[in-house]
Amino acid sequence: MRSTPAVVAATATDVGRVRQLNEDAALADGTLFVVADGMGGHQAGEVASRIAVETLAQLVGRPGLRPRDLIDQVEEANRTILASAAEHPERAGMATTLSGLAAVTVGGGEHWAVFNIGDSRVYRLVDGRLTQVSVDHSEVADLVRIGAITEDEAKRHPARNIVTRCLGREALEPVDTWVLPPHPGERFLLCSDGLTNELRDAEIAEVLALDEEPQVVADTLVARAVDAGGHDNVTVVVIFVRGDVAADVEGKTAP
Ligand code: MG
Repeated sequence: MRSTPAVVAATATDVGRVRQLNEDAALADGTLFVVADGMGGHQAGEVASRIAVETLAQLVGRPGLRPRDLIDQVEEANRTILASAAEHPERAGMATTLSGLAAVTVGGGEHWAVFNIGDSRVYRLVDGRLTQVSVDHSEVADLVRIGAITEDEAKRHPARNIVTRCLGREALEPVDTWVLPPHPGERFLLCSDGLTNELRDAEIAEVLALDEEPQVVADTLVARAVDAGGHDNVTVVVIFVRGDVAADVEGKTAP
């Protein structure tokens, strides 16, 4: 009999009210979670985000995963996107963000690794406090950092869609990674900018903390972003940690 998993997750996505296509993609499998926000005409953004997610999905169930393995796989995703673009001229220039969370082994113990390139985000909720773990690679984030505009102004800024790093470029910019010690009862949120350009962090924190199942929380976040305007595709992965992460990782690697 299978025991109750320590990590439970749900995904939700919506095309929004403005876009014709949903170019976001998501993965939630065991202890590996990814959100990707594709960019490019002729449905190429959809291809780029799907390649990114499918390439990362190859790591699902691999024992003893290390942060370096995640970076290697992101680099592999970049090569695959470039190869696909070279083969299909209509996909030239396609690109995608990639934000992820995975259980990794560091120093003999299980930890969380967060990895990011682009302006999708990873948030963590511990004891009711929400923090953005990832750092946005975007022009508006640079402007916020130097104090030229506020967070709220960034959500409406004409340059809000311009990322400074992404997958799909010959010279891959560094992929940021963070290693976090697991914390009992913590929750994580991975999301595309279609969520964060519509909702303030305070509202995200309030919904993420709801005493509901992950699917209800995921659906609520997406519905709120669509209600708030739905200017872009909205995608979320919600992760609740209810017990020992190592138990789930071991469960995956058992024969
Ligand atoms: Mg987007």
